[in-house]
Parts: sequence; C-alpha cells; structure tokens
Amino acid sequence: MTTAQTVQEDLRALAEKAGRDLEEASALDILTWAADTFGDRFCVTSSMEDAVVAHLASRARPGVDVVFLDTGYHFPETIGTRDAVEAVMDVNVITLLPRQSVEEQDAEYGPKLHDRDPDLCCALRKVKPLEDGLKGYSAWATGLRRDESPTRANTPVVGWDEKRRKVKISPIARWTQEDVEAYVAEHGVLTNPLLTDGYASVGCAPCTRRTEAGEDARAGRWAGRNKTECGLHG
Ligand code: SF4
Repeated sequence: MTTAQTVQEDLRALAEKAGRDLEEASALDILTWAADTFGDRFCVTSSMEDAVVAHLASRARPGVDVVFLDTGYHFPETIGTRDAVEAVMDVNVITLLPRQSVEEQDAEYGPKLHDRDPDLCCALRKVKPLEDGLKGYSAWATGLRRDESPTRANTPVVGWDEKRRKVKISPIARWTQEDVEAYVAEHGVLTNPLLTDGYASVGCAPCTRRTEAGEDARAGRWAGRNKTECGLHG
C-alpha cells in the first residue's frame, strides 16, 4: 500500500469511528471536532438555501471556508443570500465556477441541457467543480438531513465520502425542519427568501419548483424526473 493509500485508510477509519462516537453529539460539538481535527483542511459547502451550517461552523472555527457552487443557473435570491452571508458572517466564502459559462455550454451541448440531460448538466456544473474545489481539503461539511428524503435517511453525522475520498460531515443529519427553524429564529441566521415563498428546497432555477403541503422537502427538485440528487451526495 502506498503512503497516500495508508493516509486515506487512516482517514476512513477516523471518519467511521467518529460517525459512531458522535452520533448523539450536538451539531456544534460535531463541527468543533471537525475544526479541531482538520483545521484549515476543513470546509463547509452551502447551497445558500440557508446559512445554518455555515453559522454553526463559524462558531466552531471563526473565518471557516464556506464553499458555494455558482452553477450560473441560480435564482437571484440565492446569489443575494451568498452575498449577504459573505458580508455579515465570520466566514470566508469561496465561489466555485464551472469550467464553462452557460453560454459556452449551450454552444457545445445545445441550449437547456438541464431539460435534456440533467445528469450531464449537474456533472459539468456541480460535480466536477466541487471535486476540483475540494482538492485542498481533507473534510467537508454539508447540510444534509435524514428527514429530507428517503435517499438521505441513513446519512451519518460523520462518514467517508468514497467518491472524493474525504471525510464528509453532516452535523445536522439528525435535525428536523422544526430544529432548523428554531436555530434560525434563535440566532437570526440568514435564509434564502424563497423559503418563505413556497420553496421547501432551493436549487437551480430551471430544476426547482414550489412544493405542495405534505410533499418531501426535495419533491420540488427535478420534479417529474427520475432524479433526486445532483451527484454531489449520491
Ligand atoms: Fe443543471 Fe439543473 Fe443540475 Fe443546475 S440542477 S446543474 S441547472 S441540471
């Protein structure tokens, strides 16, 4: 086994142990463990649906890197939330861009690739840029929650991201929507205005619709298609 493989196996074992040890820990304690363990090789990713995990992480590690994927297809409200987070929170926002602009992608693949081949569009505009953007980190945190959809029901609070070979931390995996709302209210956390305009989950504009009462939070993402995840978490 090479030295790099040994390091990755050690990281995997560390992640799996932490997942067991921290299952009952608070979100802040999980992020404090991550900040203490990985230092500046730890970041938070945010879709700018809300800034809850970024807020928690900034308490654990002021100035923490918050990575945002600007696909070129976001609602203006999402970009506005990103700008507000950057302006008022003690975090370092890093915006990742796809290799091609929307116009360049349209020229190569034809317009509205998201309607014809959303998996390819997500691969080009989300998965690849994140893969590149995470290269300098050993661990990344997400806002995944088990109650969002059946595909997320087994999300560990700390796990091993086999695709990127990094530690993946989901500090609010055990939270409910009510827990999120309570944290937002208690700490005055920034949220995307679309959350109060009928959207339970906010992604790219062409692939997101408002949700109906009783639907899963993510039912409005790629609605009508056999697709529930963009490839970042699947
Ligand atoms: Fe493209 Fe839609 Fe994926 Fe955004 S969510 S990258 S627009 S397919």
